[in-house]
Amino acid sequence: MFRTRTILRCQRQLSRAYATAAPPHALVFLEHRQGVIDSGSLSALTAAEQLGGQVSALIIGGKDHVQDVVHTAKKLKGVTSVLHSSSPQYVHPLPETLSPLLESLLSKSSSFTHVVSATSSLAKSVLPRVAAKLDVPAISEVTSLSHDKASNSTTFTRPIYAGNAIATVRAPASIPVKFFTVRSTAFSPAQLQEGAEAEVVAVNPVQVNDPVTEHIKTTIAKSDRPDLGVATRVVSGGRALKNAETFEATLYPLADVLGAAVGASRAAVDAGYADNSLQVGQTGKVVAPELYMALGISGAIQHLAGMKDSKLIVAVNKDPDAPIFQVADVGLVADLFQVVPELVKKLKT
Ligand SMILES: Cc1cc2nc3c(=O)[nH]c(=O)nc-3n(C[C@H](O)[C@H](O)[C@H](O)COP(=O)(O)OP(=O)(O)OC[C@H]3O[C@@H](n4cnc5c(N)ncnc54)[C@H](O)[C@@H]3O)c2cc1C
Repeated sequence: MFRTRTILRCQRQLSRAYATAAPPHALVFLEHRQGVIDSGSLSALTAAEQLGGQVSALIIGGKDHVQDVVHTAKKLKGVTSVLHSSSPQYVHPLPETLSPLLESLLSKSSSFTHVVSATSSLAKSVLPRVAAKLDVPAISEVTSLSHDKASNSTTFTRPIYAGNAIATVRAPASIPVKFFTVRSTAFSPAQLQEGAEAEVVAVNPVQVNDPVTEHIKTTIAKSDRPDLGVATRVVSGGRALKNAETFEATLYPLADVLGAAVGASRAAVDAGYADNSLQVGQTGKVVAPELYMALGISGAIQHLAGMKDSKLIVAVNKDPDAPIFQVADVGLVADLFQVVPELVKKLKT
Protein backbone atom coordinates (compact mmCIF):
# COMPACT_ATOMS: atom_id res chain seq x y z
CA MET A 1 0.00 0.00 0.00
CA PHE A 2 1.44 3.42 -0.88
CA ARG A 3 0.10 6.93 -0.84
CA THR A 4 -0.01 9.42 -3.65
CA ARG A 5 -0.77 13.10 -3.32
CA THR A 6 -2.68 15.00 -5.93
CA ILE A 7 -3.81 18.61 -5.90
CA LEU A 8 -6.88 19.34 -7.94
CA ARG A 9 -6.82 22.75 -9.50
CA CYS A 10 -9.57 24.46 -11.34
CA GLN A 11 -7.83 25.50 -14.55
CA ARG A 12 -10.48 27.65 -16.09
CA GLN A 13 -11.93 30.86 -14.78
CA LEU A 14 -15.03 30.15 -12.74
CA SER A 15 -18.07 31.96 -13.92
CA ARG A 16 -19.52 32.42 -10.46
CA ALA A 17 -18.21 34.66 -7.74
CA TYR A 18 -18.18 33.13 -4.24
CA ALA A 19 -16.98 34.42 -0.94
CA THR A 20 -13.68 32.57 -0.44
CA ALA A 21 -14.21 31.92 3.24
CA ALA A 22 -17.80 30.68 3.09
CA PRO A 23 -18.44 28.30 6.01
CA PRO A 24 -19.11 24.73 4.84
CA HIS A 25 -22.68 24.03 3.86
CA ALA A 26 -23.20 20.56 2.42
CA LEU A 27 -26.12 19.49 0.27
CA VAL A 28 -26.54 15.73 0.72
CA PHE A 29 -28.64 13.82 -1.78
CA LEU A 30 -30.60 11.25 0.25
CA GLU A 31 -31.73 8.23 -1.73
CA HIS A 32 -34.57 6.08 -0.46
CA ARG A 33 -36.58 3.04 -1.45
CA GLN A 34 -40.27 2.95 -0.59
CA GLY A 35 -39.76 5.60 2.04
CA VAL A 36 -36.73 3.98 3.70
CA ILE A 37 -33.45 5.92 3.48
CA ASP A 38 -30.60 3.93 1.91
CA SER A 39 -27.83 3.05 4.31
CA GLY A 40 -25.24 4.52 1.89
CA SER A 41 -26.99 7.91 2.04
CA LEU A 42 -26.88 7.80 5.85
CA SER A 43 -23.11 7.28 5.57
CA ALA A 44 -22.94 10.26 3.20
CA LEU A 45 -24.62 12.36 5.92
CA THR A 46 -21.94 11.33 8.41
CA ALA A 47 -19.24 12.33 5.93
CA ALA A 48 -20.95 15.70 5.33
CA GLU A 49 -21.16 16.34 9.08
CA GLN A 50 -17.38 15.92 9.30
CA LEU A 51 -16.98 19.07 7.18
CA GLY A 52 -17.96 20.95 10.32
CA GLY A 53 -20.73 23.17 8.96
CA GLN A 54 -24.39 23.06 8.00
CA VAL A 55 -25.85 19.92 6.43
CA SER A 56 -28.94 20.09 4.23
CA ALA A 57 -30.54 16.84 3.12
CA LEU A 58 -32.22 16.76 -0.29
CA ILE A 59 -35.11 14.33 -0.73
CA ILE A 60 -37.01 13.81 -3.95
CA GLY A 61 -39.72 11.39 -4.98
CA GLY A 62 -43.47 10.94 -5.18
CA LYS A 63 -45.58 12.81 -2.61
CA ASP A 64 -46.35 9.89 -0.24
CA HIS A 65 -42.87 8.51 0.22
CA VAL A 66 -41.22 11.93 0.39
CA GLN A 67 -43.29 12.84 3.45
CA ASP A 68 -42.19 9.65 5.24
CA VAL A 69 -38.54 10.25 4.43
CA VAL A 70 -38.70 13.91 5.48
CA HIS A 71 -40.20 12.81 8.80
CA THR A 72 -37.16 10.58 9.45
CA ALA A 73 -34.51 12.84 7.92
CA LYS A 74 -35.31 15.86 10.09
CA LYS A 75 -34.52 13.78 13.18
CA LEU A 76 -31.13 12.55 11.97
CA LYS A 77 -27.97 13.61 13.74
CA GLY A 78 -26.16 16.45 12.04
CA VAL A 79 -28.95 17.47 9.65
CA THR A 80 -29.65 21.21 9.91
CA SER A 81 -32.30 21.45 7.18
CA VAL A 82 -34.29 19.14 4.93
CA LEU A 83 -35.15 20.20 1.38
CA HIS A 84 -37.80 18.15 -0.37
CA SER A 85 -39.31 18.16 -3.80
CA SER A 86 -42.13 15.98 -5.11
CA SER A 87 -43.02 15.26 -8.70
CA PRO A 88 -44.14 12.24 -10.72
CA GLN A 89 -40.80 12.65 -12.52
CA TYR A 90 -38.95 12.01 -9.25
CA VAL A 91 -40.71 8.72 -8.41
CA HIS A 92 -38.04 6.92 -10.44
CA PRO A 93 -35.39 9.62 -10.66
CA LEU A 94 -33.17 9.66 -13.72
CA PRO A 95 -29.99 11.72 -14.17
CA GLU A 96 -31.77 13.77 -16.84
CA THR A 97 -34.62 14.76 -14.52
CA LEU A 98 -32.63 15.19 -11.32
CA SER A 99 -29.71 17.24 -12.70
CA PRO A 100 -31.78 20.38 -13.49
CA LEU A 101 -33.12 20.43 -9.92
CA LEU A 102 -29.61 20.24 -8.47
CA GLU A 103 -28.43 22.93 -10.87
CA SER A 104 -31.21 25.23 -9.78
CA LEU A 105 -30.41 24.61 -6.09
CA LEU A 106 -26.79 25.54 -6.79
CA SER A 107 -27.68 28.77 -8.53
CA LYS A 108 -25.72 31.93 -7.84
CA SER A 109 -27.47 32.81 -4.60
CA SER A 110 -26.96 29.39 -3.00
CA SER A 111 -24.75 28.98 0.05
CA PHE A 112 -23.84 25.36 -0.72
CA THR A 113 -20.12 24.65 -0.67
CA HIS A 114 -20.26 20.85 -1.02
CA VAL A 115 -22.55 18.38 -2.79
CA VAL A 116 -22.39 14.92 -1.25
CA SER A 117 -23.90 11.56 -2.03
CA ALA A 118 -23.44 7.82 -1.61
CA THR A 119 -21.59 6.11 -4.47
CA SER A 120 -24.81 4.90 -6.11
CA SER A 121 -25.38 4.38 -9.82
CA LEU A 122 -27.69 7.42 -9.91
CA ALA A 123 -25.26 9.70 -8.07
CA LYS A 124 -22.31 8.51 -10.17
CA SER A 125 -24.16 9.89 -13.19
CA VAL A 126 -25.77 13.00 -11.68
CA LEU A 127 -22.91 14.55 -9.70
CA PRO A 128 -20.35 14.68 -12.55
CA ARG A 129 -23.02 16.09 -14.92
CA VAL A 130 -23.86 18.98 -12.60
CA ALA A 131 -20.22 19.50 -11.62
CA ALA A 132 -19.28 19.75 -15.30
CA LYS A 133 -21.96 22.39 -15.84
CA LEU A 134 -20.36 24.44 -13.05
CA ASP A 135 -16.89 23.73 -14.45
CA VAL A 136 -15.68 22.06 -11.26
CA PRO A 137 -14.37 18.53 -10.63
CA ALA A 138 -16.23 15.68 -8.89
CA ILE A 139 -14.37 13.35 -6.56
CA SER A 140 -15.57 9.77 -6.18
CA GLU A 141 -15.45 7.00 -3.54
CA VAL A 142 -14.14 9.18 -0.72
CA THR A 143 -13.02 7.20 2.33
CA SER A 144 -12.00 10.08 4.63
CA LEU A 145 -12.03 13.85 4.57
CA SER A 146 -11.09 16.98 6.47
CA HIS A 147 -12.06 20.58 5.83
CA ASP A 148 -9.72 23.44 6.65
CA LYS A 149 -11.87 26.47 7.40
CA ALA A 150 -8.95 28.90 7.24
CA SER A 151 -7.96 28.03 3.67
CA ASN A 152 -11.46 26.87 2.70
CA SER A 153 -9.99 23.73 1.19
CA THR A 154 -11.15 20.14 1.65
CA THR A 155 -8.77 17.18 1.62
CA PHE A 156 -10.07 13.74 0.72
CA THR A 157 -8.64 10.24 0.57
CA ARG A 158 -9.88 7.76 -2.00
CA PRO A 159 -8.69 4.34 -3.10
CA ILE A 160 -7.17 3.98 -6.57
CA TYR A 161 -5.76 1.03 -8.55
CA ALA A 162 -8.43 -1.35 -7.20
CA GLY A 163 -7.73 -0.22 -3.65
CA ASN A 164 -4.00 -0.91 -3.90
CA ALA A 165 -3.11 2.73 -3.33
CA ILE A 166 -4.74 5.62 -1.50
CA ALA A 167 -4.77 9.02 -3.23
CA THR A 168 -4.90 12.16 -1.09
CA VAL A 169 -6.74 14.81 -3.08
CA ARG A 170 -7.21 18.46 -2.12
CA ALA A 171 -10.01 20.63 -3.48
CA PRO A 172 -8.80 24.21 -2.87
CA ALA A 173 -10.85 27.33 -2.18
CA SER A 174 -10.88 28.18 -5.90
CA ILE A 175 -13.37 25.33 -6.36
CA PRO A 176 -16.51 26.99 -5.02
CA VAL A 177 -18.67 23.85 -4.85
CA LYS A 178 -16.93 20.59 -4.09
CA PHE A 179 -18.76 17.50 -5.35
CA PHE A 180 -17.98 14.11 -3.89
CA THR A 181 -19.41 10.62 -3.49
CA VAL A 182 -18.74 8.59 -0.38
CA ARG A 183 -17.71 4.96 0.02
CA SER A 184 -20.35 3.86 2.50
CA THR A 185 -18.18 1.25 4.24
CA ALA A 186 -15.83 4.04 5.36
CA PHE A 187 -18.43 6.10 7.29
CA SER A 188 -20.93 4.84 9.82
CA PRO A 189 -24.58 5.56 8.98
CA ALA A 190 -26.06 8.68 10.62
CA GLN A 191 -28.37 7.82 13.51
CA LEU A 192 -31.57 9.36 14.78
CA GLN A 193 -30.93 11.90 17.51
CA GLU A 194 -33.36 12.52 20.32
CA GLY A 195 -34.76 16.03 20.21
CA ALA A 196 -33.39 16.76 16.73
CA GLU A 197 -35.83 18.63 14.51
CA ALA A 198 -34.26 20.15 11.40
CA GLU A 199 -35.95 22.92 9.45
CA VAL A 200 -38.03 21.57 6.52
CA VAL A 201 -38.19 23.47 3.22
CA ALA A 202 -40.29 22.55 0.18
CA VAL A 203 -38.57 23.10 -3.16
CA ASN A 204 -40.40 23.45 -6.47
CA PRO A 205 -39.58 20.61 -8.87
CA VAL A 206 -37.88 21.50 -12.13
CA GLN A 207 -40.05 19.94 -14.80
CA VAL A 208 -38.15 18.43 -17.72
CA ASN A 209 -40.21 18.29 -20.88
CA ASP A 210 -39.51 15.41 -23.26
CA PRO A 211 -36.64 13.88 -21.25
CA VAL A 212 -34.26 11.90 -23.46
CA THR A 213 -34.60 8.81 -21.27
CA GLU A 214 -37.63 7.25 -19.67
CA HIS A 215 -38.02 4.85 -16.75
CA ILE A 216 -39.63 1.65 -18.00
CA LYS A 217 -39.37 -0.73 -15.05
CA THR A 218 -37.24 -1.64 -12.08
CA THR A 219 -36.45 -5.28 -11.47
CA ILE A 220 -35.28 -5.93 -7.93
CA ALA A 221 -33.73 -9.28 -7.07
CA LYS A 222 -35.91 -10.60 -4.21
CA SER A 223 -34.25 -12.46 -1.38
CA ASP A 224 -35.13 -13.39 2.18
CA ARG A 225 -31.48 -13.09 3.11
CA PRO A 226 -29.82 -9.95 4.50
CA ASP A 227 -28.88 -7.35 1.92
CA LEU A 228 -25.29 -7.94 0.80
CA GLY A 229 -24.40 -4.24 1.00
CA VAL A 230 -25.24 -3.90 4.70
CA ALA A 231 -25.05 -7.46 6.09
CA THR A 232 -22.82 -8.04 9.11
CA ARG A 233 -21.92 -11.54 7.86
CA VAL A 234 -21.21 -12.55 4.28
CA VAL A 235 -20.54 -16.02 2.87
CA SER A 236 -18.97 -15.77 -0.60
CA GLY A 237 -18.23 -18.45 -3.16
CA GLY A 238 -15.93 -18.57 -6.16
CA ARG A 239 -15.31 -20.55 -9.31
CA ALA A 240 -14.54 -23.64 -7.20
CA LEU A 241 -18.28 -24.07 -6.56
CA LYS A 242 -18.59 -25.71 -10.02
CA ASN A 243 -22.14 -24.66 -11.01
CA ALA A 244 -25.28 -22.88 -9.80
CA GLU A 245 -26.72 -26.00 -8.13
CA THR A 246 -23.56 -26.78 -6.15
CA PHE A 247 -23.14 -23.08 -5.29
CA GLU A 248 -26.62 -23.03 -3.76
CA ALA A 249 -26.44 -26.47 -2.12
CA THR A 250 -23.06 -25.72 -0.51
CA LEU A 251 -23.25 -22.05 0.43
CA TYR A 252 -26.88 -21.44 1.32
CA PRO A 253 -27.04 -23.82 4.34
CA LEU A 254 -23.98 -22.07 5.78
CA ALA A 255 -25.44 -18.63 5.08
CA ASP A 256 -28.73 -19.71 6.69
CA VAL A 257 -27.14 -20.99 9.87
CA LEU A 258 -25.03 -17.83 10.18
CA GLY A 259 -27.84 -15.45 9.16
CA ALA A 260 -25.46 -14.21 6.47
CA ALA A 261 -25.82 -12.63 3.04
CA VAL A 262 -24.43 -14.55 0.07
CA GLY A 263 -21.72 -13.06 -2.14
CA ALA A 264 -19.76 -14.31 -5.13
CA SER A 265 -16.59 -13.69 -7.08
CA ARG A 266 -16.87 -12.36 -10.61
CA ALA A 267 -15.77 -15.73 -11.97
CA ALA A 268 -18.74 -17.33 -10.19
CA VAL A 269 -21.12 -14.65 -11.48
CA ASP A 270 -19.77 -14.82 -15.05
CA ALA A 271 -20.15 -18.60 -15.03
CA GLY A 272 -23.81 -18.20 -14.00
CA TYR A 273 -23.51 -19.68 -10.50
CA ALA A 274 -24.89 -16.54 -8.87
CA ASP A 275 -26.82 -13.38 -9.75
CA ASN A 276 -24.94 -10.23 -10.81
CA SER A 277 -26.20 -8.42 -7.73
CA LEU A 278 -24.13 -10.77 -5.55
CA GLN A 279 -20.75 -9.89 -7.07
CA VAL A 280 -18.22 -8.56 -4.59
CA GLY A 281 -15.24 -6.56 -5.80
CA GLN A 282 -13.98 -3.70 -7.89
CA THR A 283 -16.82 -4.01 -10.39
CA GLY A 284 -19.31 -5.37 -7.88
CA LYS A 285 -20.30 -4.40 -4.35
CA VAL A 286 -17.88 -3.11 -1.75
CA VAL A 287 -18.61 -4.72 1.62
CA ALA A 288 -17.03 -4.50 5.06
CA PRO A 289 -18.99 -6.92 7.28
CA GLU A 290 -17.98 -8.22 10.70
CA LEU A 291 -17.37 -11.64 9.11
CA TYR A 292 -16.46 -12.38 5.47
CA MET A 293 -16.03 -16.01 4.43
CA ALA A 294 -14.25 -16.55 1.08
CA LEU A 295 -14.86 -20.11 -0.05
CA GLY A 296 -12.99 -21.32 -3.12
CA ILE A 297 -12.01 -17.76 -4.05
CA SER A 298 -8.40 -17.18 -5.12
CA GLY A 299 -8.24 -13.58 -3.87
CA ALA A 300 -7.54 -11.67 -7.09
CA ILE A 301 -6.83 -7.99 -6.48
CA GLN A 302 -10.19 -7.02 -8.01
CA HIS A 303 -12.00 -9.26 -5.51
CA LEU A 304 -9.96 -7.96 -2.56
CA ALA A 305 -10.95 -4.40 -3.56
CA GLY A 306 -14.49 -5.25 -2.51
CA MET A 307 -13.94 -7.03 0.81
CA LYS A 308 -10.53 -6.48 2.33
CA ASP A 309 -11.86 -3.97 4.88
CA SER A 310 -14.02 -6.72 6.45
CA LYS A 311 -13.37 -7.08 10.17
CA LEU A 312 -12.74 -10.86 10.20
CA ILE A 313 -11.83 -12.65 6.98
CA VAL A 314 -12.05 -16.44 6.88
CA ALA A 315 -10.72 -18.21 3.77
CA VAL A 316 -11.00 -21.83 2.70
CA ASN A 317 -8.89 -22.79 -0.29
CA LYS A 318 -7.15 -25.93 -1.51
CA ASP A 319 -4.14 -23.94 -2.67
CA PRO A 320 -1.83 -22.84 0.20
CA ASP A 321 -0.39 -20.13 -2.07
CA ALA A 322 -3.75 -18.56 -2.91
CA PRO A 323 -3.49 -14.75 -2.46
CA ILE A 324 -6.65 -14.71 -0.33
CA PHE A 325 -4.52 -16.06 2.55
CA GLN A 326 -2.54 -12.78 2.54
CA VAL A 327 -5.59 -10.88 3.80
CA ALA A 328 -7.28 -13.70 5.75
CA ASP A 329 -7.38 -13.59 9.56
CA VAL A 330 -8.29 -17.27 9.62
CA GLY A 331 -7.16 -19.48 6.74
CA LEU A 332 -7.84 -23.13 6.13
CA VAL A 333 -6.06 -25.08 3.40
CA ALA A 334 -8.73 -27.64 2.65
CA ASP A 335 -11.41 -28.83 0.27
CA LEU A 336 -14.45 -26.63 0.82
CA PHE A 337 -16.79 -29.49 -0.08
CA GLN A 338 -15.62 -31.30 3.06
CA VAL A 339 -15.22 -28.29 5.32
CA VAL A 340 -18.47 -26.43 4.69
CA PRO A 341 -20.92 -29.29 5.44
CA GLU A 342 -18.93 -30.12 8.61
CA LEU A 343 -19.07 -26.49 9.67
CA VAL A 344 -22.83 -26.30 9.10
CA LYS A 345 -23.30 -29.45 11.17
CA LYS A 346 -21.20 -28.05 14.05
CA LEU A 347 -22.92 -24.66 13.95
CA LYS A 348 -26.31 -26.33 14.14
CA THR A 349 -25.49 -28.28 17.31
C1 LIG B 1 -11.40 -5.01 -14.80
C2 LIG B 1 -11.65 -6.22 -13.96
C3 LIG B 1 -12.59 -6.14 -12.95
C4 LIG B 1 -12.83 -7.25 -12.14
N1 LIG B 1 -13.74 -7.13 -11.13
C5 LIG B 1 -13.92 -8.19 -10.30
C6 LIG B 1 -14.81 -8.10 -9.18
O1 LIG B 1 -15.49 -7.09 -8.96
N2 LIG B 1 -14.92 -9.16 -8.37
C7 LIG B 1 -14.21 -10.33 -8.55
O2 LIG B 1 -14.36 -11.27 -7.76
N3 LIG B 1 -13.38 -10.43 -9.60
C8 LIG B 1 -13.23 -9.41 -10.49
N4 LIG B 1 -12.42 -9.56 -11.55
C9 LIG B 1 -11.90 -10.91 -11.86
C10 LIG B 1 -10.70 -11.31 -11.05
O3 LIG B 1 -9.53 -10.87 -11.69
C11 LIG B 1 -10.64 -12.84 -10.92
O4 LIG B 1 -10.63 -13.43 -12.20
C12 LIG B 1 -11.79 -13.46 -10.13
O5 LIG B 1 -11.95 -12.79 -8.89
C13 LIG B 1 -11.49 -14.93 -9.87
O6 LIG B 1 -12.57 -15.53 -9.22
P1 LIG B 1 -12.36 -16.82 -8.34
O7 LIG B 1 -11.39 -16.52 -7.26
O8 LIG B 1 -13.70 -17.32 -7.96
O9 LIG B 1 -11.76 -17.87 -9.39
P2 LIG B 1 -10.31 -18.48 -9.51
O10 LIG B 1 -9.29 -17.42 -9.63
O11 LIG B 1 -10.39 -19.51 -10.59
O12 LIG B 1 -10.07 -19.19 -8.11
C14 LIG B 1 -10.73 -20.34 -7.69
C15 LIG B 1 -10.05 -20.75 -6.39
O13 LIG B 1 -10.75 -21.86 -5.86
C16 LIG B 1 -9.78 -22.74 -5.26
N5 LIG B 1 -10.42 -24.07 -5.23
C17 LIG B 1 -10.72 -24.89 -6.26
N6 LIG B 1 -11.37 -26.00 -5.81
C18 LIG B 1 -11.47 -25.87 -4.46
C19 LIG B 1 -12.04 -26.67 -3.45
N7 LIG B 1 -12.67 -27.83 -3.71
N8 LIG B 1 -11.95 -26.24 -2.17
C20 LIG B 1 -11.32 -25.07 -1.86
N9 LIG B 1 -10.77 -24.27 -2.80
C21 LIG B 1 -10.84 -24.66 -4.09
C22 LIG B 1 -8.58 -22.65 -6.18
O14 LIG B 1 -7.41 -23.03 -5.49
C23 LIG B 1 -8.59 -21.16 -6.55
O15 LIG B 1 -7.80 -20.41 -5.66
C24 LIG B 1 -12.15 -8.47 -12.36
C25 LIG B 1 -11.21 -8.53 -13.39
C26 LIG B 1 -10.96 -7.42 -14.17
C27 LIG B 1 -9.94 -7.52 -15.26
